[in-house]
Amino acid sequence: MDNHWEVLISAEEIRERIGELGRELAEQYSGLNPVVIPLLRGGFMFAADLVRAMDTDLQVEFLGASSYGEQTESSGEVRLTLDTALPLAGRHILLVEDIVDTGLTLAYIQQLINSRKPASLHTVVLLDKRARRKVEAKIDRVVFDIPDRFVFGFGLDSPGGFGRNLPDVVAMKDNLDQE
Ligand code: 5GP
Repeated sequence: MDNHWEVLISAEEIRERIGELGRELAEQYSGLNPVVIPLLRGGFMFAADLVRAMDTDLQVEFLGASSYGEQTESSGEVRLTLDTALPLAGRHILLVEDIVDTGLTLAYIQQLINSRKPASLHTVVLLDKRARRKVEAKIDRVVFDIPDRFVFGFGLDSPGGFGRNLPDVVAMKDNLDQE
């Protein structure tokens, strides 16, 4: 796998930007006791760094969604693979997503959360592939805008299901050849 990818965003850059975002969000949510919801599986690493940078009282719940299967193109069919345990009604929710591509996953999950009548719902996204958007979802903060390339690392997996443990966000070189 080693020769097929290159670093797109370094671990150092990611750490800095998430630290800044965490400090801002801690201020924004001060006194609100938010429920932070990492969207699994890809959002786990972003969320782990983000909550450690948020010096405020918060709870963590998990939602799981899947739309990719084994390919590098979204199937367009979103499935809920894990639901929250805490009631979300009346709570301030911070949804933490790894990457937005077509927007279908986010739109589906936001609709689900909103149906539970939270006090507020904000969404932060690590990577935004804006060029591929099919449905508009409400995104409050994007950490990095990225081009239309398949990426993995920092929580996101490669087409074969590996690579989530890479500290950098990397992009497949094969996509480069097609550009
Ligand atoms: P969407 O529903 O916005 O098309 O896709 C969102 C989901 O697809 C993300 O949560 C992520 O799991 C997956 N995804 C989209 N683009 C990429 C990518 O470049 N790399 C990886 N590993 N997953 C992606």
